[in-house]
Order: sequence, then structure tokens, then C-alpha cells
Amino acid sequence: MKYHSTRDREARHALTASEAILKGLAEDGGLFVPESIPALPPDLDVDAPYGVFAARVLEPFFEGDELHDSLEDICSAAFDFPIPLHDLDSSTVLELFHGPTSAFKDFGARFLAFSMERLLVQRDRRLCILVATSGDTGGAVASAFWKRRNLTVKVLFPKGRVAYRQKKQLTCWGGNVSSYEVDGSFDDCQSMVKSAFVDPQYASSLSSANSINLGRLLPQMVYYVYASMRYVKEKGRRPVIIIPSGNVGNCTGAYWAAAMGAPIARIVLAVNANRTIPDYLESGRYEPRASVRTLANAMDVGAPSNMERIFDLFRTFDEVKANVSAWSVSDDHIRETIRAVYDREGYIMCPHTACAEYVRATRFADRDDVMLVSTAHPAKFDTVVEPLIGASVPLPQALADLMERPNDYKSIGVDYHELF
Ligand SMILES: *Cc1c(COP(=O)(O)O)cnc(C)c1O
Repeated sequence: MKYHSTRDREARHALTASEAILKGLAEDGGLFVPESIPALPPDLDVDAPYGVFAARVLEPFFEGDELHDSLEDICSAAFDFPIPLHDLDSSTVLELFHGPTSAFKDFGARFLAFSMERLLVQRDRRLCILVATSGDTGGAVASAFWKRRNLTVKVLFPKGRVAYRQKKQLTCWGGNVSSYEVDGSFDDCQSMVKSAFVDPQYASSLSSANSINLGRLLPQMVYYVYASMRYVKEKGRRPVIIIPSGNVGNCTGAYWAAAMGAPIARIVLAVNANRTIPDYLESGRYEPRASVRTLANAMDVGAPSNMERIFDLFRTFDEVKANVSAWSVSDDHIRETIRAVYDREGYIMCPHTACAEYVRATRFADRDDVMLVSTAHPAKFDTVVEPLIGASVPLPQALADLMERPNDYKSIGVDYHELF
């Protein structure tokens, strides 16, 4: 199995999965995609331990790759937390927030970290991962790479712009993870990272762990295969899956799962007030733009980076229209939905998950087979959620443990040399 850039459709520069994972972004600026999507193994057992199940789904993507025989070890170590399907009266919720930082990004970040560790140890190489973050990604990456051999992490976050609990998740690590509070904006943090990447003194020892890395995409495909098979096993019908989306990496995993043959009736995107994709589906013109701020802030994306992969999978507008639906949800509707679900079912949703529920409630009937994807634990967004429901959201144990750890970070200016 080989991978090529979305901008190299003749596959003139094909790489193995491991090479693509270590590289991150292709040299031409495109994103790595597989030369073809393999079919699901016929004897896939949805009752196997999740790490074993994940390895079976991923193996065809690593055919001939040096990681092929280690996948079961990697997946068993990376996915050491539950993935429940939670039944509500009106739908089923796929809870992807039971990892160490209580958001679905743990799946991708952990698979990437354990894979990179193995590749680097084999090569006797070391890499430093640089992450600029305004919130969730940095915490998931720091947690995933903490204690991984041959890897160090430097997390940059803007002073005064991250919430208390988020800051805690960025600064509580120590060891091979260092955190830097930058006296500047998120954009300053990002340009420091970009400058370091092009500085010949550091470039060859640096890497990124951002959401376009193939090593984050592939594990996001596995849970859609798993959840749809579980759903069919329990209910006998294929689910429509509604996915809260921003950079569309999570739903790209779902489209790849469907292309493998996972029993999914339809994939529907729920976006916030950032309407780039719904507008495109209506007008046929794809117009990336600046993002606007919303309550579902992990989806505040106006130029979704993984759209290149969607356009690679579906080559014409008609094909996109036939496979992709997307609806935009306003902040008012997010608030209303969090309140309504809590009043009706006593279930607490984060603002991102509420976007999916709003789309379900307005576009589907209660008895339709709909699976909502829950991307984060509501306790991560306590300041939004608690006033709406008039109750406090209990912290999951994993987050509570992190809150107990001491902060450790350096305050720096906007010169990237201070990182080294
Ligand atoms: C990152 C994130 C999303 C958006 O996922 P994409 O892959 O960027 O579409 C949704 N919800 C939460 C909680 C997130 O952290």
C-alpha cells in the first residue's frame, strides 16, 4: 500500500504509510491519501478487544510497511480506554471522549505518538514535536507524546487566551514535554512554529502532529467501522452518522470507513456558524474564508484543511453532493439544544455534540436510525454548559487527575529562538 499527495494524482511520488506519517505534509503542500481504499477483512470480529479490532482494520493500509506487524501492540497501547455507544430515547451517541484528555483527538494523537516512537527507535533518530495551540489539540498531543521515547514536545500557547482547565492540560506534564506561555496571540505562536520549521539549524529535528497527519486520520476511520458494526449487530439496521465538524478530519475517517464497506447509511456533517461547507453544497462554489468565533470553538474553521482529501475521494461536485450533507448550527441553537437534551433525557452534551443533535432533531424523525458523534466531554466546556443546565458537570476521572498535577511552564516573548 502506497500513499501520494492529493496534489499528485498520478502518484509520481508514492510513499509507504510510515514515510507519510513521519513526513506529515507532502512536499508539494498536499495531504497524503492511500492509492486505493481496501475492503474490510471478511472475518472482522466486532467483539474482539478494540486494540485487536483496530489492528485488523488498519493492516491493509500498512501492507508491506515496517509497522504492519506492530499494529496490534500499537493499537492496544494507544486505545486503552472505552468507546461506548450510549442509547438515548431519540438516538444513539458514540462517545469518543473517554481518553486521557476527554476529546476524540486522543485517538489520533495517541496512535501517531506510539507509531512515531516505534519508527524513531528503529532508526535511532530523535524528533521534537512543535505545537501551537489555542485549546484542545495541544493538550491531546502533549498527553499522547508524554513519556514516548526519542520524542520531545514543545507546546506554545498565547498568554491569557486559554481557559483555566485548558491551560492545566497544556502545562501539567514535565519530562519530555515543555510548555511555553507566549506573550502574544495564537497567530504569533503559529508563526513562531513556522519560522522554526524553516530554520536550517532546527528544521531536520522538528516535526508537527497536526490534524492533517495520516497517522491521525487512519485511527479516526477505525471507530466508524467499529461503531457502525456494533450498531448493526444490536439494532439490525445501518445508522446515519452525524459528525460535529471543523477541519473535517474526523468525518474524512468516516468516509474512508464507508468506502471500506462499513455499514453506514449516510454521513452528515454538523458545522457551527462557519458555513463554508453548507454554502458550497448549495452554490457549487468552494470559498474558504476567515473563521468566526462560536460556542463550539474547536470547530471554528473557515478553511477546512482536510477538504482536499474529500475532494480527492469525490472527484466531481455531483459526487460530493451525492455523499456529503452539511448543516450549519447557530450559537442560539447550540444553547437551546444543550438545555433541551438535559431537560428531556438528563444527558449533558458539549457544544460540539449539541450541533449534531440539533441537526438530528430538525432533519430526522425520532425513530430514525441516527448515531450522533460526541467529540468532547461536556466538563471541558463547563463555562458554557453549566449556566445552561443550572447544574455542575462532574469532571471525568482522567481530567480530575490532570487538574491535581502542578503547572510547569516558561513565559517567553515572540522570538522562536527562546524555544531552544
Ligand atoms: C477538533 C474538534 C472537532 C472538529 O473535528 P475536525 O476533525 O476538525 O472536523 C469537533 N469537536 C471537538 C471537541 C474537537 O476537539
